[in-house]
Formats: sequence, structure tokens, C-alpha cells
Amino acid sequence: MPRPIQAFIHLDALAHNLQVAKNNAIASQVYAVVKANAYGHGIERVYDAFKQADGFALLDIAEAERLRALGWQGDILLLEGIFSLQDLADCHRLNLSFTLHSAHQIEWLQQFQHSHSDAQFNIFVKMNSGMNRLGFSPEDYQNAWQQLSRLSCVHTMTHMMHFSDADGMRFGELGIQYQYELFQQIIQQFPAPVTVSNSAAILRHSVDLHSDIVRSGIMLYGSSPDYPSHRIQDWNLLPSMSLRSEIIAVQNLSEGHSVGYGSRFVADRPMRIGVVACGYADGYQRLSATGTPVLVNGQRTQLVGRVSMDMLTVDLTDMPQADVGAEVVLWGNSSCGAVLSIDDVAQASGTVGYELMCGVTQRVPFVIQ
Ligand SMILES: *Cc1c(COP(=O)(O)O)cnc(C)c1O
Repeated sequence: MPRPIQAFIHLDALAHNLQVAKNNAIASQVYAVVKANAYGHGIERVYDAFKQADGFALLDIAEAERLRALGWQGDILLLEGIFSLQDLADCHRLNLSFTLHSAHQIEWLQQFQHSHSDAQFNIFVKMNSGMNRLGFSPEDYQNAWQQLSRLSCVHTMTHMMHFSDADGMRFGELGIQYQYELFQQIIQQFPAPVTVSNSAAILRHSVDLHSDIVRSGIMLYGSSPDYPSHRIQDWNLLPSMSLRSEIIAVQNLSEGHSVGYGSRFVADRPMRIGVVACGYADGYQRLSATGTPVLVNGQRTQLVGRVSMDMLTVDLTDMPQADVGAEVVLWGNSSCGAVLSIDDVAQASGTVGYELMCGVTQRVPFVIQ
């Protein structure tokens, strides 16, 4: 028998979460962000659930090629833009839209159109409105926009920016404010479609923002972008990935006995400990603290002791019925429908849902449900 760990992908949940994005952004086109292999879910696995999206967004041309191979003929946006002149040939061949964020990319476009007079690109011109990662500064943006609009290979242009704090406050103000006002001011001279919203902005600020295209990522995968202010239930989102394994051994501890490497956990009373076939080599965070929630037979209990490569240990003291073979949910749904949100687990592990779902490793078999 294979080792009992499996990652389940819930297509109904993915489709449901996309519909939530659409309901929150009724006047917008909703792009499904499927970068990082669909946030660890697998592009081929999620594709059917996301066919109702208005477009897809990702970073790697190789991933875009996989979407085309699946039959997707709509828009695909490269969120990090092109990394070389050669990428333009692929964008041309695969009909990809891309972010344009720096002056050197304008030069590549100029060079490309010399040799490919038939090429027509839909480009998303990015402004650095304050996050200071990608984009033209507000001072340079209008000049770049004008330069681009004169290129014969540029077919359509969309204004783009990305929020650093759409999930909450920044320096005592609404987090979107400092960027959005500046952005509006700079782009007003050049009427064109706009894309600004990520998941947090879709859920929290649909009424405050104008975004002709929204870029929904994490919310599609059943993680709340502004946890713990809001949990997935508050946003009507469903877990799209469930990491499940089983109890493979049970240990009865006396008071004073310890569990696992480093003897980090010491029983202060007689305890019953379940050993689970899941470790950091499966993508479970090694730094998860004692107390990180898990579900055993759909009932909430907690991790105790250190996570090792292939195993972790959980408290079964109050679950005498849970024995070898009991279902363990590391995050997601139990087969009886109990929910352990990936956000609750991530918080106790010192990280975010994004990292957990992206981190499930190669050796874990995936099952589509
Ligand atoms: C990843 C990404 C998104 C999606 O962000 P979520 O927080 O996952 O919704 C949107 N826009 C850009 C530019 C991104 O890189």
C-alpha cells in the first residue's frame, strides 16, 4: 500500500471561489491567477474549474504554454513581464499579454518590431505607485505610456498597479489609499482600461476601486487574504486543497516522557500520542509549533513536539477512539466535512496559506475530487 498521505484538490470549491470573485467584482473581468503552478494545486488540475474565468495570469512562459496546450484561447497575462528579448517571440507565438514595467523592455519591443512587423501585443503598463518592486515611477510613467503608444507592435494598453496593503491599514490610513490616489492622478490623462485589484482588494474594496480587470489569486484557493481580520467563512470561500494522511502508530506516554527530536515536548500527564505519516519532506512546515491545529477523524486536536522529515505527532489523549488508520487532516476538509482552514495552520506555523499550498512536495500524490 502507498504511504497514506494525499493532497486532494476540490474542483467544486475552486469553481465556487471563482464565482465569489465574480460576485464581488460584477463590473470587472476576473482573471484567475495561476502562477506557481496554480498556487501549488497544478495548472492541469485546476483548469476545468477555472474555465469560466475571463483570463489567466501567471509568470512563466512554460506555464502559459501548458494553458494553451489545455485548449485555453483567451487572454493570458504574464505578471512579471518579459525577461528577455527572446521572450517576445514566445509572446507572439502563444499570443500572451505581458506587463511592461521598465525602460529596457521598451527597447526590446522596439528591436522586436524591426524583425516582426506583424507582431501585435496587448501590454499592461505598470506603475510603481509605492510598493517599490516593479513599475515605472510616477514621474516616468506618462513618458513611458506615450512612447509605447507610438509603437506599431502595441495593440492595446492597460494601466496596471499592485497594492502593498490592500488587506488592511498602513500608517493609520486605509492601506490602498496612498497608492490609488497617486495612480489615478497620473493615469487620468490617458483614458484606457485599468487593472489594480488582487484578492484582498476584490473582497475588501470593490466599491472603492475601479478595476476593469481584477487579478484574483489566493481567494480562489480558499485562503483569506486578510486573515485573521476575516476568515474564509466570512468571505464565503471554501478550501480547495486538503492535505490528508493517517495515524500510523500510537504511543502511550507517562508523565515526564518526551516526544520526538530534541525532546521538545514533555508530557505533563499520561498522554496518548498519534504518529502521522506527514513531515517536512511532504511540505508541512518544520517550524510549526506545538499547538498547531490538526483534525483527527474530523475532530480538532494539536501537533505536539518537533516535525520530522517523514512524521509528526499529535495529541490523541482526549480521543480514545482514534487509532491506527484514523484520518488526519493537516489542512482543508476531512472526508466527513469538517474544515481546518489553511490560514489557521499557517498562522501557527509562522507563515501564510500561500506558502503552505505552494510547498506540497513532489512525493505527495494528488487526487482530484
Ligand atoms: C500574485 C499576484 C496577484 C494575486 O494576488 P493574490 O493576493 O493571490 O490575490 C495579483 N497581481 C499580481 C501582480 C501578482 O503578482
